[in-house]
Amino acid sequence: MSTCVFCKTKQSKYCGRSFHKFPVKDVLRLQQWLKEMKRKDWKPNRNSTLCSAHFTNDCFDRTGFLITLKKNSVPTIFDNPKSECSSCHRLREYGRGYSFFKFPLDEPDIMKQWIANINIGPWSPSSDSFLCSDHFEPCCFQKKSQKLYNFTKRQYPNVIW
Ligand SMILES: [Zn+2]
Ligand SMILES: [Zn+2]
Repeated sequence: MSTCVFCKTKQSKYCGRSFHKFPVKDVLRLQQWLKEMKRKDWKPNRNSTLCSAHFTNDCFDRTGFLITLKKNSVPTIFDNPKSECSSCHRLREYGRGYSFFKFPLDEPDIMKQWIANINIGPWSPSSDSFLCSDHFEPCCFQKKSQKLYNFTKRQYPNVIW
């Protein structure tokens, strides 16, 4: 069972996506993939996969029983991470009642805890990574005014799937 390392979509009958392993043996191509993903310091393993959502249509060979990637295909569709929760992939939309929080990049200890709690495997958030307020307990928020909540960094997200 595969999970896309980028968007965390899990492989299932109903997801409508195919999953493709990284070209770990083809160093040049692998570099292109990682460059597109903007994850230069991250290394996939033999089981890491990307889902078909990150490839343009012309990358696929649909002539066989299984959908395969054409040789030299490079994934290019990586949604702007600014607009998405890293855990549940909810899009950042105004007026929905959710807040989005950046990862505490400057506090490695807290960040480790965040990543452990989110449980999405080997992955490093960037300054564009967000987590939505759904994953925090109410006690994580400081009331600033009637409507505004200020997030206290010291708290860890408690992930609700
Ligand atoms: Zn994906
Ligand atoms: Zn979320």
